Amino acid sequence: MKTSNILAGKAVLVTGGCSGIGQAIAVAAARHGAKAVIVSDTTDCPRDGGEPITTRILGLGVPARFRYANVAKRRDNDALVETAAEFGGVDVMVLNAGISLRSDGADVTEGDYRRLMSNNLDGMLLGAQAAACQMRRLGKAGSIILISSMGGIAGCGKTVAYSTSKGGVELLAKALAHALGPDGIRANSVAPGVIDTGMLRTTHEVAAAAESFRQRTPLRRPGQTSEVGDAVAFLGSDLSGYISGVTLCVDGGLLSAA
Ligand code: NAD
Repeated sequence: MKTSNILAGKAVLVTGGCSGIGQAIAVAAARHGAKAVIVSDTTDCPRDGGEPITTRILGLGVPARFRYANVAKRRDNDALVETAAEFGGVDVMVLNAGISLRSDGADVTEGDYRRLMSNNLDGMLLGAQAAACQMRRLGKAGSIILISSMGGIAGCGKTVAYSTSKGGVELLAKALAHALGPDGIRANSVAPGVIDTGMLRTTHEVAAAAESFRQRTPLRRPGQTSEVGDAVAFLGSDLSGYISGVTLCVDGGLLSAA
């Protein structure tokens, strides 16, 4: 069912779009009237089961493509963006792919730290570069949206490397807004709070921390992935045409509370 038409005429590309929040962003793009949705991931089936994401989007009457891409690799990002050529190029690039670690305290291993940074931060830079390059070439007033986290705004001792990567994502979005604004390209971040996805159940510790955050969240519930999808649709649409370089927190008010 269509929710709105705010993304009419826009091709939306979502990285890490086969699970959790990315899947919801892709579906929301279709529901908000996108002309096409391109989903990339390292697997074409949702890890939590169900039909392939492209089947769901096609079911909404919107053209959909899946493309394998490891966001940590430049050539994958460049090839991914080229997938959108058949739809006239990418209008809205959503950099969502990310990982968390099973053990991520102050003693996080160097190997885990580097793996996480290459997925969560290098991947965002490479994806943004690929999209911006195509948008500039085609003269598109595009929108680039980076999915960060409340963990990138307030540090958390249980997610040291993760918070570090997301803090980088926060400033990457602002720096991109500054660099790309003169070409009419906007860049913003969306910082989800506690959202009900598999990532929250990686370990007992992460699940316990999520429960504690939930209790401190003014709205007293975890967010739904569709609520992040709607926020991303707004930032991708012309309704947010003069908004660039901001962080949109989708956190039930958590970061506003002392
Ligand atoms: P998820 O694990 O359900 O989904 C992440 C997706 O990214 C997976 O489909 C995975 O295959 C893909 N991915 C991981 N590494 C990749 C790579 N190198 N190349 C391509 N795809 C890759 O997690 P999620 O909870 O949906 O998280 C999505 C985004 O939201 C992440 O950036 C995460 O940090 C962020 N986030 C999640 C929460 C939450 O509460 N779940 C809160 C704040 C931020």
